[in-house]
Amino acid sequence: MEIPKLVYDLISLQRASNGDSLREEILPNGSIEIGHLEFMRVNTGVLLRANILLTYKIECSRCLKEANTSFPLVFDEVFYLAGEEENSDLDDLRVDGKFTFDQSYLIDITEAVRQYGEVTAPMQPLCEENCQGLCPLCGAFIGVEDCGCTLMYTDPRWSALSALKQE
Ligand SMILES: [Zn+2]
Ligand SMILES: [Zn+2]
Repeated sequence: MEIPKLVYDLISLQRASNGDSLREEILPNGSIEIGHLEFMRVNTGVLLRANILLTYKIECSRCLKEANTSFPLVFDEVFYLAGEEENSDLDDLRVDGKFTFDQSYLIDITEAVRQYGEVTAPMQPLCEENCQGLCPLCGAFIGVEDCGCTLMYTDPRWSALSALKQE
C-alpha cells in the first residue's frame, strides 16, 4: 500500500467554534483512488472523518495472480492539539498512539490513513470475487484454462478409492 503524504492547513479552524468543520478532497494519488475528508473542531483538537477508497496491488490468495483491489476506508479519529490546557496529559496520549498537531494547525494524517488502511485491508484478497484458484494437480488457472485434469476425478480407479472410503 502506498499512502502519499497527506498534510492539511487547518488554520481557519483555529478560532472556530466546536462543531465547525472544513472539507477536503483527496485526489487520486498512490493507493488512494478518491477520498473525502471532514475536519471538525472539537474541545481537544480536531476530529477527522475520513471516507477514502483505496486501490492497490495484491497477490490473489487463491491463485497467486497479481491484481488490483479496492476497498473503502471509513474512520473517525481525533487529532489532539498540543499545548492546550485540556491536553496537559498529552504525553500519556502519545504513549497510547494518539495523533497530535501543533499551533501551526498543519495536520499530517498520513500515518493515520496508513494504519487504518492496514487494519482494514482484506486479509485474504482475491483477484476477483469468484476466483476458483489453481488446479491442485497442474497449477493451471481453473475456469480460465482447460487443463484436463478434471478427467482424473472421474477415473474409475479414483471412484473405486472413494467407494472404499465410504465403507
Ligand atoms: Zn485469483
Ligand atoms: Zn490441471
